[in-house]
Amino acid sequence: MSVNPFIQAQKQFDWVANQLNLDKELRKSLRYPQNFIQFTIRIRGDKGGIKSFPAFRSQYNNALGPYKGGIRFHPDETADTVRALSAWMTWKCALTGLPLGGGKGGVICNPKELSENELKKISQAYAKKLAKDLGPWKDIPAPDVYTNSQTMAWMLEAYEKKTKQSAPGAFTGKPVELGGHEGRTEATGLGVVITTREAMKHLKINPKKATAIIQGFGNVGKYAAKHFEKLGVKIIGYSDSSGAIFNSRGIKYEDALKYKNEHTTLKDFPNAKALTNNQLLEQKCDILVPAALENVITKSNAHNIQAKIIAEGANGPTTVQADDILYKDSVFIIPDFLCNAGGVVGSYFEWAQNNSGEHWTLKKYNDQLDEVLTNAFHTVLDTFETEHKINMRQAAYMVAVKKVADAMKLRGRV
Ligand code: GLU
Repeated sequence: MSVNPFIQAQKQFDWVANQLNLDKELRKSLRYPQNFIQFTIRIRGDKGGIKSFPAFRSQYNNALGPYKGGIRFHPDETADTVRALSAWMTWKCALTGLPLGGGKGGVICNPKELSENELKKISQAYAKKLAKDLGPWKDIPAPDVYTNSQTMAWMLEAYEKKTKQSAPGAFTGKPVELGGHEGRTEATGLGVVITTREAMKHLKINPKKATAIIQGFGNVGKYAAKHFEKLGVKIIGYSDSSGAIFNSRGIKYEDALKYKNEHTTLKDFPNAKALTNNQLLEQKCDILVPAALENVITKSNAHNIQAKIIAEGANGPTTVQADDILYKDSVFIIPDFLCNAGGVVGSYFEWAQNNSGEHWTLKKYNDQLDEVLTNAFHTVLDTFETEHKINMRQAAYMVAVKKVADAMKLRGRV
Protein backbone atom coordinates (compact mmCIF):
# COMPACT_ATOMS: atom_id res chain seq x y z
CA MET A 1 0.00 0.00 0.00
CA SER A 2 1.41 3.37 -0.87
CA VAL A 3 2.09 5.82 1.91
CA ASN A 4 -0.03 8.97 2.07
CA PRO A 5 2.57 11.76 2.21
CA PHE A 6 0.36 14.11 4.19
CA ILE A 7 -0.24 11.53 6.92
CA GLN A 8 3.52 11.08 6.90
CA ALA A 9 4.15 14.84 7.19
CA GLN A 10 1.68 15.00 10.07
CA LYS A 11 3.33 12.07 11.84
CA GLN A 12 6.68 13.82 11.57
CA PHE A 13 5.10 17.00 12.90
CA ASP A 14 3.39 15.21 15.82
CA TRP A 15 6.73 13.81 16.89
CA VAL A 16 8.35 17.25 16.99
CA ALA A 17 5.31 18.86 18.61
CA ASN A 18 5.72 16.41 21.50
CA GLN A 19 9.41 17.00 21.63
CA LEU A 20 8.95 20.79 21.79
CA ASN A 21 5.99 20.48 24.11
CA LEU A 22 3.78 22.63 21.87
CA ASP A 23 0.40 23.47 23.26
CA LYS A 24 -2.80 22.03 21.84
CA GLU A 25 -3.98 25.04 19.82
CA LEU A 26 -0.60 25.57 18.24
CA ARG A 27 -0.43 21.91 17.24
CA LYS A 28 -3.85 22.06 15.69
CA SER A 29 -3.01 25.05 13.56
CA LEU A 30 0.38 23.73 12.45
CA ARG A 31 -1.02 20.32 11.47
CA TYR A 32 -3.04 21.61 8.51
CA PRO A 33 -2.67 24.19 5.73
CA GLN A 34 -4.10 27.62 6.54
CA ASN A 35 -5.78 27.67 3.11
CA PHE A 36 -6.32 24.98 0.56
CA ILE A 37 -7.61 26.03 -2.84
CA GLN A 38 -8.90 23.47 -5.30
CA PHE A 39 -10.31 24.11 -8.76
CA THR A 40 -10.53 22.71 -12.27
CA ILE A 41 -8.64 24.08 -15.23
CA ARG A 42 -10.42 23.76 -18.57
CA ILE A 43 -8.62 24.45 -21.82
CA ARG A 44 -9.33 23.85 -25.48
CA GLY A 45 -6.93 21.13 -26.62
CA ASP A 46 -4.99 21.37 -29.86
CA LYS A 47 -7.39 18.93 -31.50
CA GLY A 48 -10.42 21.03 -30.60
CA GLY A 49 -12.02 19.22 -27.62
CA ILE A 50 -12.12 20.52 -24.04
CA LYS A 51 -9.54 19.06 -21.65
CA SER A 52 -9.89 19.47 -17.90
CA PHE A 53 -7.35 19.17 -15.12
CA PRO A 54 -7.80 19.28 -11.33
CA ALA A 55 -5.55 21.92 -9.77
CA PHE A 56 -4.50 22.83 -6.23
CA ARG A 57 -2.69 25.45 -4.20
CA SER A 58 -1.96 24.74 -0.58
CA GLN A 59 -1.02 27.79 1.49
CA TYR A 60 0.36 26.07 4.54
CA ASN A 61 1.66 28.79 6.83
CA ASN A 62 2.63 32.45 6.50
CA ALA A 63 3.76 33.31 10.02
CA LEU A 64 7.33 33.95 8.85
CA GLY A 65 6.42 35.64 5.56
CA PRO A 66 4.48 35.17 2.29
CA TYR A 67 3.69 31.58 1.29
CA LYS A 68 6.44 30.19 -0.92
CA GLY A 69 6.74 27.03 -2.96
CA GLY A 70 6.72 25.37 -6.33
CA ILE A 71 3.98 24.13 -8.65
CA ARG A 72 4.13 20.56 -9.94
CA PHE A 73 2.53 19.22 -13.11
CA HIS A 74 2.24 15.49 -12.61
CA PRO A 75 -0.23 12.72 -13.53
CA ASP A 76 -0.01 11.21 -10.02
CA GLU A 77 -0.46 14.50 -8.17
CA THR A 78 -2.99 14.39 -5.32
CA ALA A 79 -4.44 16.95 -2.93
CA ASP A 80 -2.58 15.26 -0.08
CA THR A 81 0.76 15.27 -1.86
CA VAL A 82 0.37 19.01 -2.34
CA ARG A 83 -0.62 19.45 1.32
CA ALA A 84 2.43 17.49 2.48
CA LEU A 85 4.78 19.34 0.20
CA SER A 86 3.43 22.68 1.41
CA ALA A 87 4.16 21.66 5.01
CA TRP A 88 7.70 20.69 4.03
CA MET A 89 8.13 24.07 2.31
CA THR A 90 7.15 25.79 5.56
CA TRP A 91 9.82 23.90 7.48
CA LYS A 92 12.35 24.36 4.68
CA CYS A 93 12.03 28.16 4.62
CA ALA A 94 12.13 28.35 8.41
CA LEU A 95 15.15 26.07 8.67
CA THR A 96 17.19 28.18 6.27
CA GLY A 97 16.16 31.39 8.03
CA LEU A 98 14.21 32.88 5.11
CA PRO A 99 11.52 35.50 5.78
CA LEU A 100 9.05 33.27 3.92
CA GLY A 101 6.27 30.86 4.73
CA GLY A 102 5.36 27.67 2.90
CA GLY A 103 3.03 26.67 0.10
CA LYS A 104 2.81 24.29 -2.83
CA GLY A 105 0.75 23.89 -5.97
CA GLY A 106 -0.07 21.11 -8.34
CA VAL A 107 -1.99 20.29 -11.48
CA ILE A 108 -2.94 16.70 -12.29
CA CYS A 109 -1.77 16.40 -15.88
CA ASN A 110 0.80 14.50 -17.89
CA PRO A 111 3.12 17.04 -19.53
CA LYS A 112 4.57 14.26 -21.72
CA GLU A 113 1.19 13.96 -23.45
CA LEU A 114 0.56 17.68 -23.83
CA SER A 115 1.79 20.10 -26.47
CA GLU A 116 3.68 23.26 -25.60
CA ASN A 117 0.60 25.26 -26.51
CA GLU A 118 -1.57 23.21 -24.14
CA LEU A 119 0.96 23.56 -21.33
CA LYS A 120 0.98 27.31 -21.90
CA LYS A 121 -2.82 27.41 -21.62
CA ILE A 122 -2.77 25.36 -18.41
CA SER A 123 -0.12 27.64 -16.89
CA GLN A 124 -2.00 30.79 -17.84
CA ALA A 125 -5.30 29.43 -16.53
CA TYR A 126 -3.67 28.46 -13.22
CA ALA A 127 -2.19 31.92 -12.62
CA LYS A 128 -5.32 33.73 -13.76
CA LYS A 129 -7.61 31.73 -11.51
CA LEU A 130 -5.34 32.26 -8.50
CA ALA A 131 -4.40 35.87 -9.28
CA LYS A 132 -6.06 37.30 -6.17
CA ASP A 133 -4.35 34.75 -3.91
CA LEU A 134 -0.82 35.18 -5.32
CA GLY A 135 1.64 38.08 -5.31
CA PRO A 136 5.09 39.13 -4.06
CA TRP A 137 3.71 39.78 -0.56
CA LYS A 138 1.13 36.97 -0.52
CA ASP A 139 2.19 33.75 -2.19
CA ILE A 140 5.13 33.25 -4.54
CA PRO A 141 5.19 30.11 -6.71
CA ALA A 142 8.26 28.61 -8.39
CA PRO A 143 9.09 25.67 -10.66
CA ASP A 144 8.96 22.11 -9.38
CA VAL A 145 8.49 18.66 -10.91
CA TYR A 146 7.81 19.03 -14.69
CA THR A 147 7.55 22.83 -14.56
CA ASN A 148 10.36 25.24 -15.41
CA SER A 149 11.28 28.86 -16.11
CA GLN A 150 9.06 28.92 -19.20
CA THR A 151 6.09 27.87 -17.04
CA MET A 152 6.90 30.77 -14.70
CA ALA A 153 7.11 33.21 -17.64
CA TRP A 154 3.63 32.19 -18.84
CA MET A 155 2.24 32.44 -15.33
CA LEU A 156 3.84 35.82 -14.67
CA GLU A 157 2.36 37.23 -17.87
CA ALA A 158 -1.15 35.93 -17.03
CA TYR A 159 -0.88 37.18 -13.44
CA GLU A 160 0.32 40.67 -14.42
CA LYS A 161 -2.36 40.98 -17.06
CA LYS A 162 -5.08 39.99 -14.62
CA THR A 163 -3.84 42.21 -11.79
CA LYS A 164 -2.89 45.08 -14.13
CA GLN A 165 0.59 45.63 -12.77
CA SER A 166 4.19 44.66 -13.23
CA ALA A 167 5.18 42.31 -10.41
CA PRO A 168 8.34 40.31 -11.19
CA GLY A 169 8.58 39.23 -7.52
CA ALA A 170 5.29 37.31 -7.84
CA PHE A 171 7.08 34.24 -9.25
CA THR A 172 10.62 32.95 -8.91
CA GLY A 173 12.63 30.61 -11.11
CA LYS A 174 11.82 32.93 -14.02
CA PRO A 175 13.93 33.20 -17.17
CA VAL A 176 16.89 35.55 -16.66
CA GLU A 177 15.40 37.99 -19.21
CA LEU A 178 12.31 38.41 -17.00
CA GLY A 179 14.07 39.02 -13.70
CA GLY A 180 15.29 35.51 -12.99
CA HIS A 181 18.84 34.71 -11.98
CA GLU A 182 21.54 32.75 -13.81
CA GLY A 183 22.19 30.75 -10.63
CA ARG A 184 18.63 29.54 -10.01
CA THR A 185 18.55 26.55 -12.39
CA GLU A 186 21.51 24.88 -10.71
CA ALA A 187 20.80 26.12 -7.17
CA THR A 188 18.97 23.02 -5.88
CA GLY A 189 21.59 20.59 -7.24
CA LEU A 190 24.41 22.79 -5.98
CA GLY A 191 22.75 22.96 -2.56
CA VAL A 192 22.63 19.15 -2.41
CA VAL A 193 26.38 19.15 -2.94
CA ILE A 194 27.07 21.93 -0.40
CA THR A 195 25.18 20.11 2.36
CA THR A 196 26.75 16.76 1.40
CA ARG A 197 30.21 18.35 1.44
CA GLU A 198 29.57 19.40 5.04
CA ALA A 199 28.29 15.90 5.89
CA MET A 200 31.45 14.38 4.39
CA LYS A 201 33.59 16.71 6.54
CA HIS A 202 31.65 15.60 9.60
CA LEU A 203 31.98 11.91 8.76
CA LYS A 204 35.60 12.33 7.64
CA ILE A 205 34.96 11.08 4.12
CA ASN A 206 37.42 12.34 1.52
CA PRO A 207 35.39 13.58 -1.49
CA LYS A 208 38.20 12.60 -3.85
CA LYS A 209 37.79 8.97 -2.77
CA ALA A 210 34.02 9.02 -2.52
CA THR A 211 31.43 7.52 -4.88
CA ALA A 212 27.88 8.71 -5.50
CA ILE A 213 24.71 7.35 -7.05
CA ILE A 214 22.14 9.75 -8.40
CA GLN A 215 18.56 8.54 -8.74
CA GLY A 216 16.68 10.91 -11.08
CA PHE A 217 18.16 12.99 -13.87
CA GLY A 218 15.98 16.10 -13.69
CA ASN A 219 16.98 19.55 -12.59
CA VAL A 220 18.16 18.37 -9.18
CA GLY A 221 19.97 15.13 -10.02
CA LYS A 222 21.68 16.50 -13.10
CA TYR A 223 23.26 19.52 -11.41
CA ALA A 224 24.06 17.61 -8.25
CA ALA A 225 26.10 15.24 -10.44
CA LYS A 226 27.84 18.18 -12.10
CA HIS A 227 28.86 19.78 -8.81
CA PHE A 228 29.80 16.46 -7.16
CA GLU A 229 32.27 15.88 -9.96
CA LYS A 230 33.75 19.33 -9.35
CA LEU A 231 34.42 18.22 -5.75
CA GLY A 232 36.18 15.11 -7.04
CA VAL A 233 33.38 12.65 -6.20
CA LYS A 234 33.02 9.75 -8.68
CA ILE A 235 29.48 9.13 -9.94
CA ILE A 236 28.91 5.42 -10.44
CA GLY A 237 25.18 5.30 -11.18
CA TYR A 238 22.34 7.37 -12.59
CA SER A 239 18.71 6.79 -13.36
CA ASP A 240 15.73 8.38 -15.03
CA SER A 241 12.14 7.21 -15.41
CA SER A 242 13.25 4.61 -18.02
CA GLY A 243 15.62 2.78 -15.62
CA ALA A 244 19.15 2.96 -14.25
CA ILE A 245 22.75 2.68 -15.45
CA PHE A 246 25.69 1.62 -13.29
CA ASN A 247 29.46 1.32 -13.62
CA SER A 248 31.68 1.03 -10.54
CA ARG A 249 34.55 2.63 -12.49
CA GLY A 250 32.47 5.79 -12.87
CA ILE A 251 30.28 7.44 -15.49
CA LYS A 252 31.20 11.00 -16.37
CA TYR A 253 28.42 13.53 -15.91
CA GLU A 254 29.12 15.08 -19.34
CA ASP A 255 28.74 11.68 -21.03
CA ALA A 256 25.46 10.92 -19.26
CA LEU A 257 24.15 14.39 -20.11
CA LYS A 258 25.15 14.16 -23.75
CA TYR A 259 23.53 10.74 -24.09
CA LYS A 260 20.34 11.88 -22.35
CA ASN A 261 20.12 14.97 -24.57
CA GLU A 262 20.61 12.92 -27.74
CA HIS A 263 18.34 10.00 -26.84
CA THR A 264 15.93 11.70 -24.36
CA THR A 265 16.61 8.71 -22.05
CA LEU A 266 19.55 7.03 -20.29
CA LYS A 267 18.34 3.62 -21.47
CA ASP A 268 20.99 1.58 -23.34
CA PHE A 269 23.80 3.92 -22.28
CA PRO A 270 27.02 2.19 -23.47
CA ASN A 271 29.58 0.61 -21.08
CA ALA A 272 27.21 0.47 -18.13
CA LYS A 273 25.11 -2.21 -16.51
CA ALA A 274 21.36 -1.69 -16.84
CA LEU A 275 19.53 -1.84 -13.50
CA THR A 276 16.06 -1.01 -12.28
CA ASN A 277 15.61 2.15 -10.23
CA ASN A 278 15.17 -0.04 -7.15
CA GLN A 279 18.33 -2.04 -7.76
CA LEU A 280 20.27 1.19 -8.19
CA LEU A 281 19.30 2.40 -4.71
CA GLU A 282 20.76 -0.76 -3.19
CA GLN A 283 24.24 -0.58 -4.76
CA LYS A 284 27.30 0.05 -2.62
CA CYS A 285 28.37 3.72 -2.61
CA ASP A 286 29.26 6.51 -0.19
CA ILE A 287 26.54 8.95 -1.17
CA LEU A 288 23.07 8.08 -2.40
CA VAL A 289 21.03 10.94 -3.84
CA PRO A 290 17.35 10.14 -4.34
CA ALA A 291 16.45 13.06 -6.60
CA ALA A 292 13.18 11.98 -8.17
CA LEU A 293 9.84 11.53 -6.39
CA GLU A 294 8.66 10.71 -2.88
CA ASN A 295 8.55 7.32 -1.08
CA VAL A 296 11.35 5.45 -2.83
CA ILE A 297 13.14 4.34 0.34
CA THR A 298 10.66 2.36 2.41
CA LYS A 299 10.68 -0.36 5.03
CA SER A 300 11.01 -2.94 2.26
CA ASN A 301 14.34 -1.71 0.89
CA ALA A 302 15.84 0.39 3.73
CA HIS A 303 17.78 -2.60 5.10
CA ASN A 304 19.47 -3.08 1.74
CA ILE A 305 20.79 0.47 1.44
CA GLN A 306 24.59 0.37 1.49
CA ALA A 307 25.31 4.12 1.28
CA LYS A 308 26.94 6.01 4.16
CA ILE A 309 25.08 9.24 3.37
CA ILE A 310 21.61 9.70 1.91
CA ALA A 311 21.33 13.18 0.46
CA GLU A 312 17.65 13.77 -0.16
CA GLY A 313 17.49 15.81 -3.35
CA ALA A 314 13.80 14.95 -3.79
CA ASN A 315 11.05 15.90 -1.39
CA GLY A 316 9.91 13.04 0.86
CA PRO A 317 11.92 10.16 -0.65
CA THR A 318 12.22 8.28 2.69
CA THR A 319 9.28 6.98 4.73
CA VAL A 320 9.13 7.31 8.53
CA GLN A 321 9.60 3.55 8.98
CA ALA A 322 12.61 3.56 6.68
CA ASP A 323 14.08 6.43 8.73
CA ASP A 324 14.10 4.22 11.84
CA ILE A 325 15.81 1.37 10.02
CA LEU A 326 18.44 3.67 8.50
CA TYR A 327 19.11 5.28 11.87
CA LYS A 328 19.79 1.87 13.41
CA ASP A 329 22.02 1.01 10.45
CA SER A 330 23.96 4.28 11.08
CA VAL A 331 23.18 5.77 7.69
CA PHE A 332 23.59 9.56 7.85
CA ILE A 333 20.56 11.29 6.30
CA ILE A 334 20.60 14.85 5.07
CA PRO A 335 16.85 15.42 5.21
CA ASP A 336 15.04 16.80 2.17
CA PHE A 337 14.10 20.16 3.61
CA LEU A 338 17.77 20.84 4.37
CA CYS A 339 19.39 19.03 1.46
CA ASN A 340 17.26 20.44 -1.35
CA ALA A 341 16.71 23.89 0.18
CA GLY A 342 19.13 25.44 -2.33
CA GLY A 343 16.22 25.93 -4.72
CA VAL A 344 14.12 28.05 -2.42
CA VAL A 345 17.13 29.89 -1.00
CA GLY A 346 18.00 30.80 -4.60
CA SER A 347 14.38 31.81 -5.14
CA TYR A 348 14.57 34.05 -2.11
CA PHE A 349 17.65 35.78 -3.57
CA GLU A 350 15.76 36.29 -6.83
CA TRP A 351 12.68 37.67 -5.07
CA ALA A 352 14.76 40.03 -2.92
CA GLN A 353 16.55 41.33 -6.02
CA ASN A 354 13.24 41.80 -7.86
CA ASN A 355 11.90 43.80 -4.93
CA SER A 356 14.98 46.01 -4.70
CA GLY A 357 15.81 46.27 -8.42
CA GLU A 358 19.29 44.79 -7.95
CA HIS A 359 21.07 42.02 -9.86
CA TRP A 360 23.80 40.01 -8.16
CA THR A 361 26.74 38.41 -9.92
CA LEU A 362 26.68 34.63 -10.16
CA LYS A 363 29.61 34.50 -7.76
CA LYS A 364 27.76 36.50 -5.11
CA TYR A 365 24.64 34.37 -5.60
CA ASN A 366 26.54 31.08 -5.22
CA ASP A 367 28.66 32.34 -2.31
CA GLN A 368 25.55 33.44 -0.44
CA LEU A 369 23.89 30.11 -1.18
CA ASP A 370 26.90 28.32 0.25
CA GLU A 371 26.84 30.46 3.38
CA VAL A 372 23.12 30.02 4.07
CA LEU A 373 23.16 26.24 3.53
CA THR A 374 26.39 25.63 5.42
CA ASN A 375 24.96 27.53 8.39
CA ALA A 376 21.67 25.64 8.22
CA PHE A 377 23.52 22.31 8.04
CA HIS A 378 25.58 23.09 11.14
CA THR A 379 22.59 24.35 13.10
CA VAL A 380 20.90 21.01 12.46
CA LEU A 381 24.07 19.04 13.16
CA ASP A 382 24.49 20.86 16.51
CA THR A 383 20.95 19.90 17.53
CA PHE A 384 21.54 16.34 16.28
CA GLU A 385 24.63 16.09 18.47
CA THR A 386 23.18 17.70 21.60
CA GLU A 387 19.82 15.92 21.67
CA HIS A 388 19.81 12.24 22.50
CA LYS A 389 18.80 9.52 20.10
CA ILE A 390 17.31 11.62 17.35
CA ASN A 391 18.10 11.49 13.66
CA MET A 392 19.05 14.40 11.42
CA ARG A 393 15.49 14.77 10.13
CA GLN A 394 14.16 15.06 13.65
CA ALA A 395 16.89 17.58 14.48
CA ALA A 396 15.94 19.65 11.42
CA TYR A 397 12.28 19.49 12.43
CA MET A 398 13.10 20.73 15.91
CA VAL A 399 14.95 23.77 14.57
CA ALA A 400 12.37 24.62 11.91
CA VAL A 401 9.12 24.02 13.79
CA LYS A 402 10.37 26.01 16.76
CA LYS A 403 10.91 29.05 14.53
CA VAL A 404 7.42 28.83 13.06
CA ALA A 405 5.86 28.17 16.47
CA ASP A 406 7.63 31.21 17.94
CA ALA A 407 6.41 33.39 15.05
CA MET A 408 2.85 32.14 15.57
CA LYS A 409 3.02 33.05 19.26
CA LEU A 410 4.56 36.47 18.61
CA ARG A 411 1.74 37.25 16.19
CA GLY A 412 -0.76 36.25 18.85
CA ARG A 413 -2.34 33.67 16.59
CA VAL A 414 -2.45 31.16 19.40
N1 GLU B 1 10.22 23.61 -5.81
C1 GLU B 1 11.37 23.88 -5.01
C2 GLU B 1 11.26 23.23 -3.64
O1 GLU B 1 10.55 22.28 -3.43
C3 GLU B 1 11.64 25.36 -4.94
C4 GLU B 1 10.56 26.17 -4.32
C5 GLU B 1 10.76 27.63 -4.50
O2 GLU B 1 11.76 28.03 -5.07
O3 GLU B 1 9.89 28.37 -4.04
O4 GLU B 1 11.94 23.61 -2.74
